[in-house]
Amino acid sequence: MYLCYIDESGTSDIPGNTSHFVLAGLSLPIWHWRDADREITIIKRRYGLDNAEIHTAWMLRKYLEQTRINNFNNLSRIQRESEVRRYRTRELLRLQNSNNSRTYHQTRKNYAKTEAYIHMTLQERQNFLAEIADCVSRWGFARLFAECIDKIYFDPQRAQSPVDEQAFEQVISRFEQYLQNTDDTNGQRNYGLIVHDNNETVEKKHTQLMREFQWKGTLWTRIERIIETPLFVDSQLTSMVQIADLCSYSLRRFVENGETTLFNKIYTRADRNRRRVVGVRHFTDAGCQCAICKGHRVA
Ligand SMILES: [Zn+2]
Repeated sequence: MYLCYIDESGTSDIPGNTSHFVLAGLSLPIWHWRDADREITIIKRRYGLDNAEIHTAWMLRKYLEQTRINNFNNLSRIQRESEVRRYRTRELLRLQNSNNSRTYHQTRKNYAKTEAYIHMTLQERQNFLAEIADCVSRWGFARLFAECIDKIYFDPQRAQSPVDEQAFEQVISRFEQYLQNTDDTNGQRNYGLIVHDNNETVEKKHTQLMREFQWKGTLWTRIERIIETPLFVDSQLTSMVQIADLCSYSLRRFVENGETTLFNKIYTRADRNRRRVVGVRHFTDAGCQCAICKGHRVA
């Protein structure tokens, strides 16, 4: 039995505010789940993130107040927290009085999303994510599946379905193929289950699509090994969904900006058939020379 944790990065709207939409899935066999989860917990603990959600995009932002608080990097964790909280309270009061309600609400949201990380410098947040990605890269039992769609090359008129549905169909097909190819030597069949972050709109759509695939197959394959409709869990409580978030984010930053630090680590887990990368695809110009496209073309 294999679990595949799914997460998306970027917007599927066209054009939207990102050039790419990425859907990633990280699969692991359930007999490795406990150890994998423990490894993540141990790293989190070292950085004072025991109960925090790893939300990669928010962790990698620059927090303005850290440059404004004197000597921030040399303060203790507790001092940093209290200095940042004081700064933020003051800032929110100032915005409240300035009658700029949009900035006020945006700032309040930013503060809430980053609250769990205010005891860390940017360098520490980067180190933490690199350690998590390193840990994932060593999981020989894990496989990464993903569809990275460059929306400039996506023609909604000619496509059979919207960007996000196509990406889901691709990832599901590749996970199914992987399950079929990894039957053990005794002929024991492998089965898989999709786990997804809680999200009402995605929930309805993916549940419906999964039902259809199981009934009629996808464009590429019959779906026989993926059972049930996707399970939706609270990402705040489930580390592995947070790891899927790190994967989809790193993939998008790679195809959009060529950022390699996290990508190079997690990409080692891309599903391969001998040397050819079959689990991850970059849907874009046919002449693209990025590592994903090259890996896909290997004979
Ligand atoms: Zn490419």
